[in-house]
Amino acid sequence: MTVELDTKSGIDNIVRIKPVATQKELRCRSCKADLSRIKRGPVVRALFFWLPLKHYVCYRCSRKTYRLDRSGK
Ligand SMILES: [Zn+2]
Repeated sequence: MTVELDTKSGIDNIVRIKPVATQKELRCRSCKADLSRIKRGPVVRALFFWLPLKHYVCYRCSRKTYRLDRSGK
Protein backbone atom coordinates (compact mmCIF):
# COMPACT_ATOMS: atom_id res chain seq x y z
CA MET A 1 0.00 0.00 0.00
CA THR A 2 1.45 3.30 -1.01
CA VAL A 3 -0.06 6.49 0.24
CA GLU A 4 1.32 9.58 -1.27
CA LEU A 5 0.75 12.62 0.85
CA ASP A 6 0.32 15.74 -1.18
CA THR A 7 1.65 18.14 1.38
CA LYS A 8 1.68 21.12 -0.92
CA SER A 9 -2.05 21.13 -1.62
CA GLY A 10 -2.62 20.31 2.05
CA ILE A 11 -0.93 23.53 3.07
CA ASP A 12 -2.90 25.39 0.43
CA ASN A 13 -6.10 24.08 1.95
CA ILE A 14 -5.12 25.28 5.40
CA VAL A 15 -4.29 28.72 4.05
CA ARG A 16 -7.61 28.83 2.23
CA ILE A 17 -9.54 28.13 5.43
CA LYS A 18 -7.96 31.11 7.15
CA PRO A 19 -10.13 34.08 6.08
CA VAL A 20 -12.50 33.89 9.03
CA ALA A 21 -12.26 37.66 9.30
CA THR A 22 -14.94 37.76 6.60
CA GLN A 23 -17.28 36.81 9.40
CA LYS A 24 -17.46 40.47 10.26
CA GLU A 25 -21.17 40.89 9.90
CA LEU A 26 -22.74 38.91 12.67
CA ARG A 27 -25.63 36.74 11.72
CA CYS A 28 -27.58 34.11 13.54
CA ARG A 29 -26.45 30.64 12.63
CA SER A 30 -29.97 29.26 12.43
CA CYS A 31 -32.13 32.01 10.95
CA LYS A 32 -29.46 34.33 9.47
CA ALA A 33 -30.97 37.37 11.14
CA ASP A 34 -28.81 40.15 12.46
CA LEU A 35 -27.47 39.68 15.94
CA SER A 36 -27.76 42.35 18.59
CA ARG A 37 -25.11 42.96 21.16
CA ILE A 38 -26.20 42.40 24.74
CA LYS A 39 -24.43 42.49 28.07
CA ARG A 40 -22.39 39.52 29.15
CA GLY A 41 -23.44 37.63 32.22
CA PRO A 42 -21.51 38.25 35.44
CA VAL A 43 -20.02 34.74 35.40
CA VAL A 44 -18.75 35.09 31.87
CA ARG A 45 -17.42 38.54 32.60
CA ALA A 46 -15.55 37.23 35.63
CA LEU A 47 -14.12 34.24 33.83
CA PHE A 48 -13.41 35.64 30.41
CA PHE A 49 -12.61 39.28 31.13
CA TRP A 50 -9.30 38.68 29.35
CA LEU A 51 -11.00 37.54 26.17
CA PRO A 52 -12.61 39.81 23.57
CA LEU A 53 -15.76 37.84 24.04
CA LYS A 54 -19.02 39.45 23.06
CA HIS A 55 -22.51 38.36 23.80
CA TYR A 56 -25.14 38.55 21.11
CA VAL A 57 -28.77 37.67 20.88
CA CYS A 58 -30.95 36.98 17.90
CA TYR A 59 -34.33 38.52 18.50
CA ARG A 60 -35.94 36.46 15.78
CA CYS A 61 -35.28 33.03 17.28
CA SER A 62 -34.02 34.24 20.70
CA ARG A 63 -30.77 32.33 20.42
CA LYS A 64 -27.93 33.70 22.45
CA THR A 65 -24.37 33.29 21.37
CA TYR A 66 -20.91 34.35 22.38
CA ARG A 67 -18.50 35.43 19.70
CA LEU A 68 -14.85 36.20 19.88
CA ASP A 69 -14.05 39.57 18.47
CA ARG A 70 -10.75 39.11 16.68
CA SER A 71 -10.82 42.46 14.96
CA GLY A 72 -8.49 43.82 17.61
CA LYS A 73 -9.35 46.44 20.24
ZN1 LIG B 1 -31.91 33.58 14.86
